[in-house]
Amino acid sequence: MVSLNQLIAVCLLYVVGLFIVAFAAERAAIRGRGDWLLRSPLVYTLSLSIYCTGWTFYGAVGYAARSGLEYVTIYLGPSLVMIGWWWLLRRLVRIGRSHRVTSVADLISSRYGKSNLLAILVTVMAVIGVTPYIALQLQSVTLSLSIFAAPAGVANGVLDGRAEPINTAQAAFWIAIGLALFTVLFGTRNLNVNERHHGVVIAIAVEAVVKLLALIAVGVFVVWGLAGGVTEAMTRIDQSAIGTWQVDGGRWAALTFLAAAAFVCLPRMFQVMVVENDEERHLQTASWAFPLYLMMMSLFVVPIAVVGLDLLPAGSNPDLFVLSLPLSQGHNTLAMFAFLGGFSSATSMVIVATLALSTMVSNHIVMPIWLALGQTSVQQSGDVRHVVILSRRVSILFIISLGYFYYRASGGSGALAAIGTISFGGVAQFLPVLLGGIFWRGATRMGALWGLGIGFGLWVFTMLLPSFGPDAVLSAATLEQGLFGIGWLRPQALFGVGGLDPTVHAVVWSLSLNTLAFILVSLFSFPSPVERLQGAQFVNIFDHSSPARGWTASVAASEDLMIMAQRILGAAEAQAFFRAQAQLQEKSEGLPEPTPAFVQALERELAASVGAATAHAMVSQLVGGASVSVQDLLAVADESAQMLEYSSQLEVKSRELSDTAEKLRRANDKLTQLSHQKDSFLSQVSHELRTPMTSIRSFSEILRDAEALSPQEKTRYASIIHSETIRLTRLLDDLLDLSVLENGEVTLNQQRGSLRDVLDLAVTTGQAANIREIKIDRDRDSEDVALETDLDRLSQVFINLITNAQKYCVSDAPCLAVRVHASGSTVAVDFIDNGAGIDADARDLIFEKFTRVAGQGGEGAGLGLAICREIITRLRGEISYLPDSPGTGFRVTLPTPQPGKLQELNRFAASA
Ligand code: ADP
Repeated sequence: MVSLNQLIAVCLLYVVGLFIVAFAAERAAIRGRGDWLLRSPLVYTLSLSIYCTGWTFYGAVGYAARSGLEYVTIYLGPSLVMIGWWWLLRRLVRIGRSHRVTSVADLISSRYGKSNLLAILVTVMAVIGVTPYIALQLQSVTLSLSIFAAPAGVANGVLDGRAEPINTAQAAFWIAIGLALFTVLFGTRNLNVNERHHGVVIAIAVEAVVKLLALIAVGVFVVWGLAGGVTEAMTRIDQSAIGTWQVDGGRWAALTFLAAAAFVCLPRMFQVMVVENDEERHLQTASWAFPLYLMMMSLFVVPIAVVGLDLLPAGSNPDLFVLSLPLSQGHNTLAMFAFLGGFSSATSMVIVATLALSTMVSNHIVMPIWLALGQTSVQQSGDVRHVVILSRRVSILFIISLGYFYYRASGGSGALAAIGTISFGGVAQFLPVLLGGIFWRGATRMGALWGLGIGFGLWVFTMLLPSFGPDAVLSAATLEQGLFGIGWLRPQALFGVGGLDPTVHAVVWSLSLNTLAFILVSLFSFPSPVERLQGAQFVNIFDHSSPARGWTASVAASEDLMIMAQRILGAAEAQAFFRAQAQLQEKSEGLPEPTPAFVQALERELAASVGAATAHAMVSQLVGGASVSVQDLLAVADESAQMLEYSSQLEVKSRELSDTAEKLRRANDKLTQLSHQKDSFLSQVSHELRTPMTSIRSFSEILRDAEALSPQEKTRYASIIHSETIRLTRLLDDLLDLSVLENGEVTLNQQRGSLRDVLDLAVTTGQAANIREIKIDRDRDSEDVALETDLDRLSQVFINLITNAQKYCVSDAPCLAVRVHASGSTVAVDFIDNGAGIDADARDLIFEKFTRVAGQGGEGAGLGLAICREIITRLRGEISYLPDSPGTGFRVTLPTPQPGKLQELNRFAASA
């Protein structure tokens, strides 16, 4: 007899082995090694074997012992689906890949316009449908444990699953904990865009081999060790009740259909078949290899059942024949191996089912709630990832504990096969919506909701609730007379259709009404634009998608990633980053492998430049070959809008900057010009000063040193010195005057007076200067104009103009005409002589300092007109050259006082 401790030790060893295998596979997958195995059609086919759970491992024999060959239907359904892979599975896998579908709920919701309501409905249905199944696995493991722990007398399995001497609740608890741990460890290590779990897949492939070998080993032992060979075994079968079992056609068809439907719709099957699929062509291998696997699993079921019924005492649990037969014959090692087979079947199912369900629960229930609670302060996709992983882990614990509590609540009762069938019936309700979704464009979200709702309700009413037995949930009266005593609402004889097998009844009613509601509501409802779009894409999936590319194609992706990174980061930075990553991977040369860690790092790097959403969309497009979802595009658009906004702000800033730079440039030009002016002014001043100084010095030296000088000569030289000194003084006076005027330091002495008086004064002073005789022609009447200005300064200007005419008029009979034109608020005084005029190009220059027109006589320093201009500007008037005059003409324009002031002025003149 094997001790319980030994058994547990072996079990633990086996689990540790599985952990190591899973861990190694994960590592290899991250490093991109071991593709030949990890991504082989063999592993894919073996992973499909999670279809064979503890139910099939133990339960098939029990099923055969109770109902004969009917158990074959459980294998027949999936085999038919596999053989017809080209028609349905290929389509599912292609859709799953190109729409990045993560679960059956995701597929249905995204086909029907990304409806969250549908996703939630399917998730809830799946959890309700699958939980009993998870409980069933816990039950099968504890049941099989109990048989080892039973006292020698009952070791043959005369147990009904209730009177075990071991604490089953505790055992089931620890098994649940272990399974949760494994699933959390390998199912949520990191978030893969494609939701693939290489560690888990390889571990269940190993378990698939163990359970097949275990069952075959027991079968071989039974046929050749106990029955005495094939012929004898056949004879025994013929003689047994199983050989003469009646086949009920309707029930067979219903069960085969149910198994086929469940095979497609079960969340865990969808996970391994569609989500974990690497390449479409793996389906082709699996299409014959998987039916072969099923055939081998079912090969020895009947012999074991027949021999078990023969050899073991009546009342033995046929569900445990696989274990109790070797045990009863003292073959402990074989029994232990068989136990490991059953353990494998149960655990692999729980792990994958939990994984698939937790993905659905977390994606469609937990995450939407979390986001709705306003926890949207996340800035980067990395932040969301942590939340997703956490919600996955919580969901895994939730689902496994749900299974555990169902197991405790149901007390571990009922035949294994019965619970399995009920579970199948629940998930089979997805089938119409699923098939309609991928083959019929007219299918709508409303139709799907109605179909699923009605189908699920009927399943609960006709299959789930009655399965608890009379008076458990539904009262015996309801079962007998119908709900509320309404005859046609009997759970097992709906609408008065009695006499049917309960399973057939439930399957036919729930699925047919489900389909009918789905079709009718679809026909009479209108799809939204998103639904229409998704519908067209799903139905015509082969028109616009390429076959799913294997992960191996990502070897080429390293170069693609490099090209993209160079465009975004710049060549030097991208190359440095890739080199550093290659070093991290301990690669001495070449590009780094596109491992998840590397791709994540690259995404982070790119996100700094182009934003998280854009980086994620770009990278996943290259790495996974996955299509970019609408949400991705919206996020990208948001980012682009932000960047546009930012760049337009930059543009404004840069325009402001260039404006400022232009102003600075102009100011600088002005300063340079002023500096040049200052230099030339200084050099002109020193030049002007040097000329008289030189002659003063020379003549004073002559006077001092020359001895024989006549008195006339002495007088002449002294008078030259005198006149030069006067010239110097005048020059210095002019310069001082100009500087005072230019600096605005002059104070004007505003006076009232008449223009005529000012002109009189100027003419007298000008002629007194005794430069040269000039005839001055005036019109005294017109000069009677009242002024209010600095009269002294004004006469200074007039004197200058008069002396200029004296100095520079080249006529033999020089004459200066003074003309006054008063008009409105101004008066213009013209000084026009009969000289030669000033050349057009010199006319503006003469008002500048030190400007003299070459070739003309006179001895001025060229400051007179400059001073005139400064004075007239201060008096708010203007002075200009008169271009059209007969000789040289200048015009001075001045403002005249307002009329009120004029009267005052006249009164003042009259009283004077
Ligand atoms: P200055 O103080 O040396 O007389 P101005 O500034 O008054 O110098 O005059 C500048 C130049 O303008 C003179 O050198 C002269 O060539 C020219 N100019 C001024 N007035 C007359 C005029 N009435 N006829 C001819 N040329 C004149």
